[in-house]
Formats: sequence, C-alpha cells, structure tokens
Amino acid sequence: MNKNENIPTGPSTSKEAMDLENKHGAHNYHPLPVVLDRGKGVFVWDIEGHKYFDFLSAYSAVNQGHCHPKIVEVMQAQTEKLTLTSRAFYNSNLGKYEKFITEYFEYDKVLPMNTGAEAVETAIKIARKWAYDVKGVPTDCAKIITCKENFHGRTTTIVSFSNDQDSTGGFGPYTPGFEVIEYNNLLELKEAVKDPNVAGFLVEPIQGEAGVMVPDHDFIAEAMKICREANVLFMADEVQTGIARTGSLLASRTPNDKGETKADILILGKALSGGAYPVSAVLTDDSVMKVIHPGQHGSTFGGNPIAAEVAIAALEIVREENLAENAYVLGKKFRQSMQELASECELITLVRGKGLLNAIVINDTPDSSTAWDLCVAMKDNGLLAKPTHGNIIRFAPPLVMTENQLDECIAIIRKTVLEFNG
Ligand SMILES: *Cc1c(COP(=O)(O)O)cnc(C)c1O
Repeated sequence: MNKNENIPTGPSTSKEAMDLENKHGAHNYHPLPVVLDRGKGVFVWDIEGHKYFDFLSAYSAVNQGHCHPKIVEVMQAQTEKLTLTSRAFYNSNLGKYEKFITEYFEYDKVLPMNTGAEAVETAIKIARKWAYDVKGVPTDCAKIITCKENFHGRTTTIVSFSNDQDSTGGFGPYTPGFEVIEYNNLLELKEAVKDPNVAGFLVEPIQGEAGVMVPDHDFIAEAMKICREANVLFMADEVQTGIARTGSLLASRTPNDKGETKADILILGKALSGGAYPVSAVLTDDSVMKVIHPGQHGSTFGGNPIAAEVAIAALEIVREENLAENAYVLGKKFRQSMQELASECELITLVRGKGLLNAIVINDTPDSSTAWDLCVAMKDNGLLAKPTHGNIIRFAPPLVMTENQLDECIAIIRKTVLEFNG
C-alpha cells in the first residue's frame, strides 16, 4: 500500500487519541476511556493491542460482527465500480436491493434512507401524508402517538416528543403534532386513538435506550389490533430491535397465539448494514407508500449503490448464519447466568431483556457512578459495555458470538461484579 506522506499518521497511544478528540471534537458524547483501533467478529482491539469482547455492538449496528468478510468484500468491490449517482438517475444496484429487502420483510415497497433518525422522520412524513390523502384528516391536524421514555433519534422534530431532559433541553421550540402516552399501556392507547386526527402510533417493540424495557408479551399484538380498528398506522421503530437482535428477525413480528403480527410501517437502520455504512429503510405496503410522489421526499445518499450491496450482504448473513436463533439461544443462557449472579450479590437488582438485547439494573441511584465504574472495571477485564440512564448496563454483543465465547464473557462479568461487590 502506498502511504501518502501528506496524510498525518494517527495517534500512537490511547491517551493521545483521547486528547485529540477532547480538544478538537464537540463534547456531545461521554465515551468509556478506551480507544478502539481494530475489530473482528465479536472482538475489538485498542491502540495498545488489548483485546476486548464488544458487548455494545455500536448500539446493535454490528449484529453481524465487526468487519464481516462478506460485507467487506461486496463493499470493496462496489466502491471500485460506482459509489453514488443520486436518485436523479437510476442505478443498477437499487432495484435489485429493493426487490430483495421487500421480499425479505414481506412489504410491497421500501423507501431507502441513511440513518435511523432519517428513517423515523420519513415514517412520520409518510404517516402524516397518509392521514391527509387517505384517512381524510383536515390539513395540518394530523397527530402521532408516541411513548414516554422513547428514543427515536436526535433531529429537532424527533426530540420534540422525547421526555429525556438531556435530549430536549435548550433545543426548543418543538414540533407540534405529537401526543405522548405511557409505554406498555393499552388503555391509554385506546383512549388516544379515539381522536379521529390520529395518523399513527410510533413505538419501539422494546425500548432500547430507555434501558431495555420489555413490554407485556401481548402488548405489540394488542396495540396493533387497537390501531387497526381505529384506522391508525402502527409504526414499529425497529432500528435497534430489528434484524435478529431480540431472537427473531423482527421484535414486532414474533409469532404469538393470535397469529403473526405485522407493522403498517417498519423502520430499520443500524444492523441493516452490519455497521459498515449508514443504511436505513422504511417499509410499507402500497396502500400507504402510494401517498409519496416524486419530489415530495428524498436523500442524496439514500439508496446509493454501496448501501444497496452492503445491505443485501448484511441481511443474507443473518439468514446464512442463523443469527436470530443464535440470539434466542444465547440470550436465554445469558439472562439465566445474570439471574444467578443477581441472587448471589447485592449489586444487581434486576435482569431483563430478549434475545441478545439485555440489561442489568445496578443497585444504586441513576445519578451514582456505580454502573459507570463497573463498566470501567469490566473494560479492564476485557469486556466493553456502557451504562444507560445512569444505573442500567446494557449487554448487546454481536450475534455471531459462539456459546464458548459467551461462557467466557459471563465469567468476566461474574468476576468483575463479585470483586466490585467486595
Ligand atoms: C439508534 C436509534 C435511532 C436513531 O438512529 P441513528 O442512526 O442514530 O439516527 C432511532 N430509533 C431507535 C430505536 C434507535 O435505537
């Protein structure tokens, strides 16, 4: 490889790298003090060469494991062929991808975007337009129901219906047209959809950022029924829960005693690219997507050739490597081990989750540093996880993990927690 002498070399120590970020970057994150330089499968390495199990997977974007060879291969090949055309022209990759992803998730149409927040914005626009064009809601009166403790992204409209003070404080004025109800509360939903101006119900099948809040097992199916009866679109934000993370392809599509459940609008992102590239998507049937006409919505990068190839590969891996089943089996074992650990010590008060999206609640207040300190101690023992909402630690490893590797990880967490407990 030719090294261009004009390109500055990277920092040679973790301290140097952290100093660079702190000095030149906006302080909009508070990262754990580890500087990652390389990744492969379930492992990442820091600049000094220390190896860690990744138990965050970039917030469930790296479900397929770091630098999956199949994704790297198609991405490299496509990068040399064609990277971006914009949607001013057709490209030879997009149609193939659209056919593939709509068959994969069983919808008529897809609208391709890049980030999760963009896909959520897209879904909101589609639902509002559907309310005016199809449902007959008076102009500018459409309402979307959302849930307390939601996380749907960081745009000005999306933070308008967040109740997290850090997300909203200082960023007003807020976008109107949203009503916030209690999560996992069918009675409140029933009441809210009585308003004839309601266009949709936007919900996470499991609230990831809130600390892996798992609703009652029939919540999704019942909420879908309530929406259907009220002619309200059920909008599933599966940016974090989707693509095998929770032990099934989609968390909102788990077969139950009432038959399969299917969202009217499905929002995907994160693992749609296996973490290699920003790729997001909104999927609906024709009866909904038909409301969008040329010029009414778009994105320069949405549906670009690299994204199309990467997403196909990322979704094929999920099937070829049985990632949903692996997440289901390993997730059960993981929660069982954590329950055992919780019963042995005072430090863990609660274990919850589904598939390989799990969390433990630490026996301290949300403003304490206990969960953070425990994460730093786990890092020193070779496992990376991050607290959310102060006293909750989320555990979400790549889904390509083997059972032996999981055993090793459980041992690291056990050792760290028991040492920490004193
Ligand atoms: C991460 C996330 C988003 C936002 O995705 P970005 O790619 O960060 O914009 C939206 N919804 C959910 C449920 C998420 O977890």
